[in-house]
Amino acid sequence: MEIIQIPVLRDNYIFLLVDRPQQIAAVVDPAQAAPVLQHLDRLNLRLTAILNTHHHSDHIGGNHELQAHFPEVVIYGGAKDRGRIPGQQVFLEEGDQVQFVDRVAQVYFVPGHTYAHIAYYFPPSSPSEPGELFCGDTLFSGGCGRLFEGTPAQMVDSLGKLRALPDQTRVWCAHEYTLKNLQFALEVEAANPELQARFQEVRLARSQNQPTIPAWLGIEKQTNPFLRWDLPRLQAKVGKTDSVGTFTKLRGMKDLH
Ligand code: ZN
Ligand code: FE
Repeated sequence: MEIIQIPVLRDNYIFLLVDRPQQIAAVVDPAQAAPVLQHLDRLNLRLTAILNTHHHSDHIGGNHELQAHFPEVVIYGGAKDRGRIPGQQVFLEEGDQVQFVDRVAQVYFVPGHTYAHIAYYFPPSSPSEPGELFCGDTLFSGGCGRLFEGTPAQMVDSLGKLRALPDQTRVWCAHEYTLKNLQFALEVEAANPELQARFQEVRLARSQNQPTIPAWLGIEKQTNPFLRWDLPRLQAKVGKTDSVGTFTKLRGMKDLH
């Protein structure tokens, strides 16, 4: 499975999952149809599936137009997003599976950013290959999504599920927010050497207009404060002693950053 990353709008990424032998593709969170159609046309691919993580317009904006071009396309989303995702046909719950050619994604229910948000995780196809995580606006590199419809406790639980995946997982987040996220992360964990190294790498990439996505989950576990709410050093920094309290404080500080 080849993954093509398409930057759109201000800072969104659309991801195309491609199988060249069969000349088919699936798309994750098509904010817009036109850039997806251009890629499909150029590569001579037929779209078979749309995988939506949640209902926000910058993730579903292309659904209808893509469906008009490919009437047989199957549109997936979370069960609790029923009525909010245009054209949705499959209503997924935690533990459900979505097949694309020879790969099978596991569905994780990850409420917090919205109450219906889901993530798609493709386990590695062999021990030497990475897993692929499509997490929408739940986990960002160096950060996490804002809490529009969920509680901090829900988001800690959701991020905890994603954090439990193997280090050798590529995290395909839906936004290029990494540099700003790490500027905040450095304010709360200035002495973290992995974070300092990641910041330098990201600053260089962005200065050359390169994407910082995908990110390695193993690096995120070492550098992303929103995956580190149970670290005593970080808890002490924000004056809390528990995970949800620490996350809540960090999220509040980030919202004002
Ligand atoms: Zn969103
Ligand atoms: Fe978004």
